[in-house]
Amino acid sequence: MEPDEPGTSAVATEIMPLAFAKGNEKYCELCQREAYLQCAKCQVTFYCNADHQQADWVGVHERICQMLVSIRSMKDIYDPAVRKRNQLRKTHLIKICKLVAQSKLSEGKHEEALPAAHCCLQTSIDLYGPNTIQLVPAYILLAEANMGLGNLAVVAELLSQAEWAVLKNPELGASVQQQLHRSLGHYHTSVGNLEIALHHFSNDIYFACEEYGLDSSATTKGYFLIADVFARQGRTAIVHSLYSEVAERWHKHLNSLLETHQQHADSSVSFYEKAQRVEMEEMLRVILEFEQKQSRRDAALIALIAHNLAMLWFINGDLHKAQDFGSTALQASLQIPKHKLTEPIQELLQQVESLQTEPQPGSD
Ligand SMILES: [Zn+2]
Ligand SMILES: [Zn+2]
Repeated sequence: MEPDEPGTSAVATEIMPLAFAKGNEKYCELCQREAYLQCAKCQVTFYCNADHQQADWVGVHERICQMLVSIRSMKDIYDPAVRKRNQLRKTHLIKICKLVAQSKLSEGKHEEALPAAHCCLQTSIDLYGPNTIQLVPAYILLAEANMGLGNLAVVAELLSQAEWAVLKNPELGASVQQQLHRSLGHYHTSVGNLEIALHHFSNDIYFACEEYGLDSSATTKGYFLIADVFARQGRTAIVHSLYSEVAERWHKHLNSLLETHQQHADSSVSFYEKAQRVEMEEMLRVILEFEQKQSRRDAALIALIAHNLAMLWFINGDLHKAQDFGSTALQASLQIPKHKLTEPIQELLQQVESLQTEPQPGSD
């Protein structure tokens, strides 16, 4: 199931003290302080004030409000069948929260990612117990959100919890190890420990290859992150060669995306794919800016990156941007006689043009 797009706003009612037995005080979903409000829809989620309720609503609650009713109001905890069903619901809830948090993070909405990451951690603790290996992905999500907000002390604490869990469970899968090394790499980059960051990003690539393969998007992102550290160290030559590698890899990926896009023009894009495209666009933009700033410009590489961006925007349906980047790409490729990209770029630009002049559906 994919989370819905946010729309409506939160509705609160005051907690009726008599509705709860004594000794069963309610705590805010976001900050764990004493709660005075409850969600009027599910009635099983509580808040210290309207701000925290609104933040939770926008962050994740709108998507999970109804799921929480069955999870939190479970009565017969001694019936094994009921317990089993509730465990499955919690597993599903964790999955949704992870997806929401990841998507918000990839869009750079760190504040909004916090409630989903929190809920992911709380539900994981509830389901698997404290200090378990299953908490690691939730720690990483929370760390990433806090990293974006500049709360580096909190990040260090969360990541050391995650590292501790990993130390105790060395058989942990490659995908979680990869994510942890990536977060540690981000953390050490932001506090300026660049050599340690390089070490973690190398491990990130190693585990990404193992889990997803050499040509995977995760591996490519690892190369990009390493290049970013080298860029901070001023090692331009190696940055340039890593960026070429990244651009080549995305080019392959985008070409096959473009092909599927042309075959099934109306295919809907998954939540995950959307998030991935946002990330890819950001990386390509950074690379293009870097290469355009170099005193000796590499026209072939600029053509390649701009062609990538043109394909990406074409697939995303923004013809204006597709045309802009397509023109940049063509200009660069024409500087090289008989460049292999000139023809595909021209084809793409023609496609953009024909779509722009086509009457919009429903206008006839
Ligand atoms: Zn609160
Ligand atoms: Zn609710």
